[in-house]
Amino acid sequence: MNKEWSDKNKKMQALIGKEVTFTEGINVLIDLRNDLFSQISFIVNNYPEDAFFKMPFAGADGYHSKTLAYSMWHIFRIEDIVAHTLIAGDEQILFEGDWQKKINSPIITTGNELNGEKIADFSKQLNVKDLYEYCKAVMDSTNRLLQGLAYKDMKRKFFENDRARVVKSNSVSKDENAFWLVDYWCKKDIRGLIKMPFSRHWIMHIEAMCRIGNKLCQKARKGADPIARCGLSCNHCFLKEWCGGCRTAYNTCSDACRYPGKMCPNTSCCMEKGIDGCYECDSLIECKKGFYEYDDVNAVKAMALFIHKYGKKELLKTMDQLHKEYNFEKIQEVLGNDLNEGLKILEGMTRIVSPV
Ligand code: SF4
Ligand code: SF4
Repeated sequence: MNKEWSDKNKKMQALIGKEVTFTEGINVLIDLRNDLFSQISFIVNNYPEDAFFKMPFAGADGYHSKTLAYSMWHIFRIEDIVAHTLIAGDEQILFEGDWQKKINSPIITTGNELNGEKIADFSKQLNVKDLYEYCKAVMDSTNRLLQGLAYKDMKRKFFENDRARVVKSNSVSKDENAFWLVDYWCKKDIRGLIKMPFSRHWIMHIEAMCRIGNKLCQKARKGADPIARCGLSCNHCFLKEWCGGCRTAYNTCSDACRYPGKMCPNTSCCMEKGIDGCYECDSLIECKKGFYEYDDVNAVKAMALFIHKYGKKELLKTMDQLHKEYNFEKIQEVLGNDLNEGLKILEGMTRIVSPV
């Protein structure tokens, strides 16, 4: 489990266990949920439509065997049912504002009854942007409920009438793979529900979503040109776990994501000029477009200049060597901000890997 999330979760559990620290514990819980939700936002804002119904771990044992869209639906349907039908005894968010129709979901249940291809087929039907808005609405509503709780509520239990309300809502399938959830929730007190589903359930599924996203990026990367048009090596970028490379639909470059269609100025300019990359451009040295507009990213231009002189393959070998010699994340940490100095450092490295 992600250490930062696990530590925050443990801290929250300890704090809500004492009256004097209860409010602080709820604040830590909200903070943890915000951290986790930011992962979903990243995935929704950066990955292409088909990423949401692909199953790169189909058949595996674990939450990562599902799809991204299914995971979102499942986490927030469960939360909506538990927060509203079970705890608050009011209407679920799904039934307010016509969410089911907007999301285009054929079901209102948690999805536990689905498996294999049925999960992929279900996921294909969902409108992910509306699903994301629904997830946000459920999260906000649950956060308000959590902030309204008092320490004395932690031991509140549930009874037959509460169980009957959940069953009557038809929000949990009668399938044996799903119906057990009703008793599982109803046997807990509120403190138990804070763990499952309001915190730990999120952690497990969102970690699985990150794993699915990561795998899809790795797959997208295969066979794609790893040299970005600006000269950066996507194979050596600090984002490479979460990005399929900037020439793929899984491009998560922060610069590209600021522009429509993820078309950064370097890419659009190269396309207009009909060239493979800025390393083929006569204006490279004085250019201030896109990634070259920042004063501290001359290092990337140094890489483009290096490609201009020695080629892409040589840059990839040189970058491998640079990572053996130095421990760094961003290329400017090693190449600095001076274009000529940066180029010299790369040339020094290339003499090690390709001596003449
Ligand atoms: S700035 Fe453009 S070309 Fe460079 S890595 Fe980002 S998306 Fe790719
Ligand atoms: S003008 Fe700048 S952004 Fe355009 S291709 Fe040349 S170096 Fe790249």
